[in-house]
Amino acid sequence: MRWEQFCYEALPMRVTFGAGSSKELPAELDRLGLDRVLVLCTPEQQESAAAIADTLGDHCAGVFPGARMHVPVSTVDEASATALACRADGCLAVGGGSTIGLGKAIALRHGTPVVAVPTTYAGSEMTPIWGLTENGAKRTGRDRAVLPRAVIYDPDLTLSLPTPISVMSALNAVAHAVEGLYAPDTSPIVSLMAEEGARALLGALRPIVADPGDRDARATALYGAWLCGAVLGATTMSLHHKLCHVLGGSFDLPHAQVHAIVLPYVMAYNAPAAPAMASAMVRALAAPADPAGELWRLGRDLGVPPSLAAIGMPQDGLAEAGRRVMAAPYANPRPVTADAVEAILRAAYDGSPPTG
Ligand code: NAD
Repeated sequence: MRWEQFCYEALPMRVTFGAGSSKELPAELDRLGLDRVLVLCTPEQQESAAAIADTLGDHCAGVFPGARMHVPVSTVDEASATALACRADGCLAVGGGSTIGLGKAIALRHGTPVVAVPTTYAGSEMTPIWGLTENGAKRTGRDRAVLPRAVIYDPDLTLSLPTPISVMSALNAVAHAVEGLYAPDTSPIVSLMAEEGARALLGALRPIVADPGDRDARATALYGAWLCGAVLGATTMSLHHKLCHVLGGSFDLPHAQVHAIVLPYVMAYNAPAAPAMASAMVRALAAPADPAGELWRLGRDLGVPPSLAAIGMPQDGLAEAGRRVMAAPYANPRPVTADAVEAILRAAYDGSPPTG
């Protein structure tokens, strides 16, 4: 290995991992000095969040079952009012990126600590990144105040995650690993986490699709999600995340699906300029070569929608998406040209095999 100068800043985070570990929550809240937390969840996860709330005893100040995708400011207003009314001194987010995002938004506004119990593979719990949507526009930023104080990974809570969401969410996490491998602020530590995280997640997906109740595969996937989330928290993302941000934000396309569809095309484009990423992904996929093509075929086998067209991207929006992606410069291992972005968007729209 060639040692180049690098900087790696570890984020202060206590992680508890293991089947049944959500039982540790009361002790975890005691350790953090939190007396009464507001439990956050989506309407769909109200039952499982209520079951966790029941185990908290006096530590539970209430349940707010109103978390929504993209963290609308109106939801933050409502949840903040509930937290105030029930005198909560922190939030416990039980769910995926949308619910953890709500906890982060409340932390950003009021400085109240967040404890996260992730139930998808999106990885938000490992990052200081927040996002808020108002009047159709999504703002994001980084702030240490929103980083969860403690994260409890209990794979048993992911057994109910529907298979299609499991697949898309896992590929969303793999995208963090891929871009972490060629990030301008990558490091040998990040590379270790990214390759191991991608390997764990990608290896777990076929067993999960075959049997969503496979506890070993669920635990392996959640471990991979943790590592990929840590990569996202430690690095600056490039072309892939920019494309997905524009597609999701401007055309209201579902976040994880967009990531799952677009990733092989960006990998193929960047591979010639990012050989370390390409070889790490060959190992992670246990593929002989062509990691982008292998990932694309895996996605097809696992039920990823075949194209952006299939998830509602309007064809006449491609040019506007390209313009928005080109509007602000950002780091990418291979120079980003308008023609290249157009070709990536066109191929992802059509669902043709990635060619680079
Ligand atoms: P999500 O949180 O929107 O959840 C998707 C659906 O799955 C919801 O209906 C939810 O209730 C349901 N669900 C979640 N876990 C379940 C389980 N175990 N069983 C049954 N149903 C379950 O989806 P997501 O992909 O986790 O998060 C996407 C959002 O997170 C996006 O808005 C994205 O921008 C954000 N995100 C933020 C970061 C960050 O660092 N800030 C990182 C990744 C994603």
